[in-house]
Amino acid sequence: MLFDIKYTLIKIYNLTIEILFPENLNCIYCKMPIHKNNKYSMCFKCYNEMIILNDVCPKCGKPFINLNLDKEVLIENCDFCKHKNFLFDRNISIVEYNEMSKKMIFGLKYSKKTFYAKLISQIIIDKINSYYSNIIKEFDYISFVPLSKKREKERGFNQAKLITSYISQYFDITIVDCVERNKNTKKLHKLSEKDRSRELKNAFKICEGKKELIYNKNLIIVDDVFTTGSTMNEIAKVLKLSGVGKILSLSFATGKYLKDVTDE
Ligand SMILES: [Zn+2]
Ligand SMILES: [Zn+2]
Repeated sequence: MLFDIKYTLIKIYNLTIEILFPENLNCIYCKMPIHKNNKYSMCFKCYNEMIILNDVCPKCGKPFINLNLDKEVLIENCDFCKHKNFLFDRNISIVEYNEMSKKMIFGLKYSKKTFYAKLISQIIIDKINSYYSNIIKEFDYISFVPLSKKREKERGFNQAKLITSYISQYFDITIVDCVERNKNTKKLHKLSEKDRSRELKNAFKICEGKKELIYNKNLIIVDDVFTTGSTMNEIAKVLKLSGVGKILSLSFATGKYLKDVTDE
């Protein structure tokens, strides 16, 4: 319970920041003065650097860059996921992982700019509303990728949980805190794909007493970045073994994946 009070306090703090420093006076990133109608409190230059994904793989959510425009790109042709056997039903990512989205994510995670979580959530919510509103209705609960207890203590909060709390509130989907880490995994972004999978093997388990709650239910799992998909896949594995129905991985950003169908 104490855990959740902390997240409510962060949200109250974010609200206070909004009152003291009203949105839409200056760009949230570069501080340039902006018009009050600008979206997400960003100047046009920063906004345009954020690439909202449209043409994506319906399974892994990676954006296609079709170098041969006269060939249709089908899911079987997604070189990123076709041999991966992902256990979650699909991943939806909202923006491309580039300098701009990295600035937002790093600001939130490492510079404790917790108000970025609200902005990131708003971008996710807007995209769901315009493209995925039917999909979201199929889900009973929303959850998030857990941090190890040690890392969450160091950071003071779990960025994925903070984003989840805004999304849960908006769509009125109950949050369940149902997955935890078994051990303190190394920082994954420094590892190769192979080392990541090894490091993640059996890294997660279902929290005490949550199995019945999630049995046969459809779950959304939120993360800030979808990189190789191995973290989400390990979580999906323990959830599916516990009888969870559909699993939607929902992430703010994902990296570009180059699709060159001319090679085929
Ligand atoms: Zn700007
Ligand atoms: Zn794919």
